Amino acid sequence: MLPMITYDRSARVYQVVDQTTGEVETFPAKHKLEAEQYALAMVNPRLVRIVRDELLSRRPFLEARAWKAAAIVESGDVAPVIDGLYFAYVRGQGDIYAVSHDDDGLMACTCTDFTSFGAPVAASNGQRLCKHLLAWQLYQRLQKHRCYHCSKLVDGDVDICPLCGEDVTPF
Ligand SMILES: [Zn+2]
Ligand SMILES: [Zn+2]
Repeated sequence: MLPMITYDRSARVYQVVDQTTGEVETFPAKHKLEAEQYALAMVNPRLVRIVRDELLSRRPFLEARAWKAAAIVESGDVAPVIDGLYFAYVRGQGDIYAVSHDDDGLMACTCTDFTSFGAPVAASNGQRLCKHLLAWQLYQRLQKHRCYHCSKLVDGDVDICPLCGEDVTPF
């Protein structure tokens, strides 16, 4: 579970509280994103690494949505669906959104960010990504590990890459 982030109005700082040790880390008023990243790194440094090194290094314009997506994943708010029109449900700020494939094979989400075209195009095939679709991608990515040698993603429960026979990284 994610550490709690609260805003202290009088001191104008965000506080991140480590629920196990009780330690408090503070961040200035305009640094909420840093507070969120710090909280996430406390519980899932691997997810933080994936967001920074694999997602934002190539698509920095996704920053705000990507960190929200990571928090959704860490909160356990992504649920795959086996059958039907949708392939996953993602909870975000009280509502649950459904993700599906459209007629062109691209992913679609029922949230306003996606349906009102606020979510930016993030791939050459025209795929737009809202935080829920990013959460779905991160959820799937966490189930894989990357091979040291060929850099391909392989199933998270294998130690030897089935593609090249080399060791798999913990990432
Ligand atoms: Zn969405
Ligand atoms: Zn390999």
